[in-house]
Amino acid sequence: MAKMYYEKDCDLSYLKGKKIAIIGYGSQGHAHALNLKDSGCDVCVGLREGSRNWAAAEGAGLAVKTVPAAAEWADIVMILINDEVQAEVYHRDIAPYMTEGKALAFAHGFNIRYQQIVPPAGVDVFMAAPKGPGHTVRSTYVAGKGVPCLVAVEQDATGHAYQIALAYIAGIGGARAGVMETTFHDETETDLFGEQTVLCGGVVDLMRCGFEVLVEAGYEPENAYFECIHEMKLIIDLINKGGVAAMNFSISDTAEFGEYVSGPRVIPHEETKERMRAVLSDIQDGTFAGKWIAENKNGRTFFNSKRQQLKKHQMEIVGGELRKNMIWGGDSDLDTASN
Ligand code: NAD
Ligand code: MG
Repeated sequence: MAKMYYEKDCDLSYLKGKKIAIIGYGSQGHAHALNLKDSGCDVCVGLREGSRNWAAAEGAGLAVKTVPAAAEWADIVMILINDEVQAEVYHRDIAPYMTEGKALAFAHGFNIRYQQIVPPAGVDVFMAAPKGPGHTVRSTYVAGKGVPCLVAVEQDATGHAYQIALAYIAGIGGARAGVMETTFHDETETDLFGEQTVLCGGVVDLMRCGFEVLVEAGYEPENAYFECIHEMKLIIDLINKGGVAAMNFSISDTAEFGEYVSGPRVIPHEETKERMRAVLSDIQDGTFAGKWIAENKNGRTFFNSKRQQLKKHQMEIVGGELRKNMIWGGDSDLDTASN
């Protein structure tokens, strides 16, 4: 059983007198910075000179410095820029200031797990990873709630790395919802596996197959879109609320019978699991990470061409048209759709 922590286990006084630099002001960055500030912490945001986020962060009442200045100033440096640029920025702008007794923090373990960043022995290294998009981290905090978080400690140089990590998570509101203990190793591997096989890779390909089969059989694309793509969220919401049983309770018995009869026909369990194990193995032995790092070094040709191809797929075009006319599908859905 994973160990859980709540507000009573977290002591915000571990952040007292500590200066916290939040590097990056994107989805997670703005939420961490604003929540910590509202929790009474001494925060500044580290950005590139000329970043368009500079004015936004200052406008929200935050102090802003360049990345090296923020790293020099801070006792705790939380890195919330894109995972694929973290190593470069770390080596150039942050590493020179990671002196003994400071802490380096992350919201995802990729760069530590695959040794793209190797912090010096004298600093604490911890993870405070909300299990939800940054905009939800902010909106739940403002509403007096929080998004559940993962906590992990890779290096405990000061002997207080756990207390500091838990205090940080309390500061962003995560302890209100619950904090689960993990390791950089497990968080990285399960996160990559989940998004590749089920959440992003698996789901998108499943929906695309369903859409294409109906359209190729002569059904209206709009109809195919509703049945195979739009309704996915409604079904997932039911599972999210009360498990598969809650979904089965809400759908018709005909749908439930079809689930038992046809689910295993399109997802042959043993074969699918065998393929998933191969994906997991690529994640565990660093093959996937190596490909992604190389892709970024080589100008992202594969990545960009896939993104362009997908934009032109009929399901995306039909979906876009349908959403324009849906009075109940607004921007609020987009907030919860990142990462
Ligand atoms: P994001 O893309 O929303 O924001 C990244 C920010 O970094 C942007 O403001 C960008 O301008 C800035 N940036 C990019 N390159 C930079 C550079 N070279 N120098 C300085 N700034 C630069 O990213 P995000 O989704 O907030 O992710 C940040 C971290 O949080 C990642 O490690 C990610 O894995 C993790 N995370 C994200 C989510 C999520 O749902 N978004 C959830 C949990 C963890
Ligand atoms: Mg994830």
